[in-house]
Amino acid sequence: MKPETMLVRKLPGKVHFGMGMIPRTRLFLNWLFHRQSQTCVACGKLAGHFSEFTGLCTHCSIQIPWIYNIRCVHCGRPTFCPDCVRPDRLARYYICNRSAISYTPMAREWIGQFKYRGNEKFGPLLGEILNRAYQAMRHEFAGHNCTRFKRSLWDVDIVTCVPVSEKRLTERGFNQAQILAEKIAKQNKLPFLSLLVRPQDTGKQSFKSKNERMNTMNNAFSVIPNMVNLMDSFILKAGSQRAMEHMHSVTILLVDDIYTTGSTLQACARVLREKALEQGVHLAIFCLTLARS
Ligand SMILES: [Zn+2]
Ligand SMILES: [Zn+2]
Repeated sequence: MKPETMLVRKLPGKVHFGMGMIPRTRLFLNWLFHRQSQTCVACGKLAGHFSEFTGLCTHCSIQIPWIYNIRCVHCGRPTFCPDCVRPDRLARYYICNRSAISYTPMAREWIGQFKYRGNEKFGPLLGEILNRAYQAMRHEFAGHNCTRFKRSLWDVDIVTCVPVSEKRLTERGFNQAQILAEKIAKQNKLPFLSLLVRPQDTGKQSFKSKNERMNTMNNAFSVIPNMVNLMDSFILKAGSQRAMEHMHSVTILLVDDIYTTGSTLQACARVLREKALEQGVHLAIFCLTLARS
């Protein structure tokens, strides 16, 4: 046998025997990590193909209950809306609400995983879904002027969110509406500012009647101290030319996770507008929610 042939034959054997265990372990860990990273956050199955939404398989992505057609321009409902035509609803403190998806059992499960079980994997996914609704809002209100190179006729000056009480914050460790609002602000290079506080926990609203909710909600929120001054400094820092030109009128995007009756958004918008008006500032409040029940 020629020496060259021996070298060729022995070399793979040496590598396999001497260093094989480390690459094999690494390979196994890589496979394990890869396998976990390829599990869909929603259905938990190994996914061959992923959608454009973080961690979501294509099968789950086609089931997202998007609200495509808005039938109620006030609350963003996709079906006939008997609520917004009621006389007590005509005094609305926000201009309108738009929601990304319908509150189906699947949406409830996803939001519940994020909100109550602290499953952080749902954060990016829900943020991306909400951002779709924000982009649709831009298109709806700014029309064709909304391009990358042209200033939009509809500009949000400040993104804010519905707050949770200290008690809830301690229980959950985070405010889901704030996380979503911060994602919208970051993705769209807008300033985020917590303008509202919730001094007391109002308890489970879902067990109360509509009238009870309204009464409880009316006094549930207050604004942060020096709100108008802080808003001014944030807008100036963000360099919003439109806001600097019209400092007396500021457009607010108020974010929450679920729109049920609108009483929470109404109470938040009311206190925001009233306190700003005391300082001579007019707020135009648009609401953006993840799901419409
Ligand atoms: Zn899936
Ligand atoms: Zn409506």
